[in-house]
Amino acid sequence: MHAYLPALADQPVPRYTSYPTADRFHDGIGPVDQSRALEAIGSDAPISLYVHIPYCREICWYCGCNTQALGRPERLVGYVESLEAEIAAVCRRVRGRVHSIHFGGGSPNALPPVAFENLVSRLRASFDCLEAPEIAVELDPRLIDPAFVSALARSGAGRASLGVQTFAAHVQEAIGRIQPVETVRNAVAMLREAGVDAINIDLLYGLPGQDIVDIEDTIEAVLALRPNRIALFGYAHVPHMMPRQRAIDATSLPDAEARFRQGARGHDRLVAAGYRAIGFDHFALPDDPLAIAARAGTLRRNFQGFTADPVATVIGLGASAISQFDGLLAQNEKDVGRYRTAVRETGLACGRGIVRTAEDRMRGELIERLLCDGTVDVDAVEQRHGPLPDRELIEAGLSIFAARGLIQPEHQSWILAAAGRPYARLVASLFDPAYRIRGQRS
Ligand code: SF4
Repeated sequence: MHAYLPALADQPVPRYTSYPTADRFHDGIGPVDQSRALEAIGSDAPISLYVHIPYCREICWYCGCNTQALGRPERLVGYVESLEAEIAAVCRRVRGRVHSIHFGGGSPNALPPVAFENLVSRLRASFDCLEAPEIAVELDPRLIDPAFVSALARSGAGRASLGVQTFAAHVQEAIGRIQPVETVRNAVAMLREAGVDAINIDLLYGLPGQDIVDIEDTIEAVLALRPNRIALFGYAHVPHMMPRQRAIDATSLPDAEARFRQGARGHDRLVAAGYRAIGFDHFALPDDPLAIAARAGTLRRNFQGFTADPVATVIGLGASAISQFDGLLAQNEKDVGRYRTAVRETGLACGRGIVRTAEDRMRGELIERLLCDGTVDVDAVEQRHGPLPDRELIEAGLSIFAARGLIQPEHQSWILAAAGRPYARLVASLFDPAYRIRGQRS
């Protein structure tokens, strides 16, 4: 169903987990702005928390996350102390009510089980939380053991996201992450038995030495585990930004066409197995909240990717965590040392960010609806926000994509065609003046 269009498939465009995108953050934003945004949250206003644990047992070569090898366990103790101080400082300013808590990293299960449990207790005691907020945790399957699973269950975690990437042994070797299928199978069984039964699995295509057969075999093995959600991401090889990726032999990366076909084959196999395609890189069983939200038109996109969480305000805690407010995006210091110093000095750790203007919010809404719903009604959005200054340019770009069968006008809306799904981010970039030019040249 998905056609490879060489001029379009390899255009570098953002993933649009926010608008403006993180590459536009600047250091003119700091704790004073963050403090103001926290204080502006109304009492009882819904908020979600994101907690970043920037440590892993060992570092995978392909990884694009802000994380580092744990080394001495005392580092975790110091980091958790800083997190607790930051939680206290945020709580002094915020009156909203927490609906969900997401732990990401790094590997949150690099924490000792008791430290994880204490951290959840601290969050629940410090913030005004719903009685049972949704708690989701990203996990390294290689570190999952009964003690950590019990800590998850006692903490009320209901969703676990496992990094798998590939089961092909030769690809695992090429990316520095050895993880047999039995390890993941045991992890899933342990989690389900403990009641942590909403399971996400992350996969990658476009890895060194990976081919279509590797994709098919990995997907068959994953389907046997019947996770509730599967994310199938394209590997981004950016060693100039992620020096650890220099360990990867770039000559063994699949070319643009092979990479495209791997993504397309994965999509087709997952859909044939009964998963609903969500956005451009997620798949969910029909009864999963993500699929339900997609059907209802309430799917959202934030820094964690596609989400069923309807809450727009996200407070990020920990090194590099990003907070999302209506009028501000604020990122904590990325470096753990600088993060800890900032928390010691002011309680807050924002090191960069960007103010979101009314126009930014309008462009953000257009991009989010296109990526989440596959349809966008520019008139309706303009009626709420006012006129788009570059509407003519946007529509000229949309017409170019329409001529290629990737999007079609229908009544007042533009609807992404099935063939346009792999190009969704490129179409979305038409609404973004910083990236639009590349889309128009295509
Ligand atoms: S375990 Fe996950 S977060 Fe840690 S280095 Fe590997 S891919 Fe990155």
